[in-house]
Amino acid sequence: MSADRIDGKAFAATVRMKVAEHVARIKEGGITPGLAVVLVGEDPASEVYVRNKGKQTLEVGMNSYEHKLPADTPEAEVLALIERLNNDPMVHGILCQLPVPDHIDDAKVINAIAPEKDVDGFHISNVGLLATGQKSMVPCTPLGCLMMLRDRHGSLSGLNAVVVGRSNIVGKPMAALLLKDSCTVTIAHSRTKDIEAVCKQADIVVAAVGRAEMINADWIKAGATVIDVGINRIAAPERGEGKMRLVGDVDYASAAEVAGAITPVPGGVGPMTIACLLANTVTACCRANGLPEPEGLTA
Ligand code: NDP
Repeated sequence: MSADRIDGKAFAATVRMKVAEHVARIKEGGITPGLAVVLVGEDPASEVYVRNKGKQTLEVGMNSYEHKLPADTPEAEVLALIERLNNDPMVHGILCQLPVPDHIDDAKVINAIAPEKDVDGFHISNVGLLATGQKSMVPCTPLGCLMMLRDRHGSLSGLNAVVVGRSNIVGKPMAALLLKDSCTVTIAHSRTKDIEAVCKQADIVVAAVGRAEMINADWIKAGATVIDVGINRIAAPERGEGKMRLVGDVDYASAAEVAGAITPVPGGVGPMTIACLLANTVTACCRANGLPEPEGLTA
């Protein structure tokens, strides 16, 4: 058996198109959704992410506001900027690119963002709302995974789902979303006993571990859907000396022999994350203005 490949790049393009259509409709009423991104410091990877976010925000017709601050910016100054953005009616979504420099408390910064503008879904109020099954802003990566799973299965009700990884940004919100969609959810982690057997019971496996190709065919039930969130850089001597390549937490070639559907790395979950950030921003704008929310772009 060879699994269907879930094309995250194509899926993300569809999400962006739906966002752009909704943005166009909102703009007819004289409102333009706006996303503000705060970057503190010069981390090269963060600069690339912020550039991509800004570019894609403009491409769907929204306003993009980038605030780049030097690495030694005092915490109070970052908090004052967040406060200004909270009060700016042109800004519907705010995110602070992580990681921030050591002298800044990231939890303090995240919790300073107005919850209704917290398009990363990391504010403690949004965490609590999601955990209690209420309407919230949902973290982008798990939201992207959920969209792909709903597209594959229709209803997720009653399916056995195993989420491998219990981080606050992926594993826990993913589990909460699957539970909200009435899956029977198990969260596995580094202390889980016989993790292979646990995963093998699952109709859905979401891998968010950060261990290159840890999960192989022996962990997967025949026909299961496998969502690979992991992004790991490993040596690729076949490409030349010192060259690297990206792999997921799942051994794709092996797992694809058994699974019913599987996301590749790269080109699976990755492209969905920014697409869902744009979706969250348009959702936040609709909620702020009492407009109908876009269908299929929220949890
Ligand atoms: P964290 O390091 O915060 O969490 C990893 C989790 O995996 C922990 O809960 C840990 O368990 C668990 N774990 C570690 N080793 C094992 C093991 N041997 N067996 C079982 N569980 C294990 O990572 P993140 O959640 O932030 O990210 C996970 C992966 O997803 C990374 O590769 C990251 O790069 C990627 N990622 C991709 C995104 C995308 O856009 N595609 C976005 C965010 C992350 P314990 O708690 O017990 O230590």
